[in-house]
Amino acid sequence: MRDDDEDSPDPDLDEEALLQTEAEVVCPYCGEAAILELDAGSGAAQEYVQDCPVCCRPWQVHVHYDATGAADVTLEES
Ligand SMILES: [Zn+2]
Repeated sequence: MRDDDEDSPDPDLDEEALLQTEAEVVCPYCGEAAILELDAGSGAAQEYVQDCPVCCRPWQVHVHYDATGAADVTLEES
């Protein structure tokens, strides 16, 4: 009986675990610090609009993951 398929490693899971999933940011409008949750599954370079949880004005969010899985997050006034 063969069972050599039972313990095949899955390298994709390790890569996912290394990606940063949140970042501390400072709102460009009101200057308050906030934790921004990142969607690591959406790609290495992301751009979207999200409202500030403090003043509710829209951020233009830029996210870039580097080779180590760390996220570089930039906010602009939308
Ligand atoms: Zn704000």
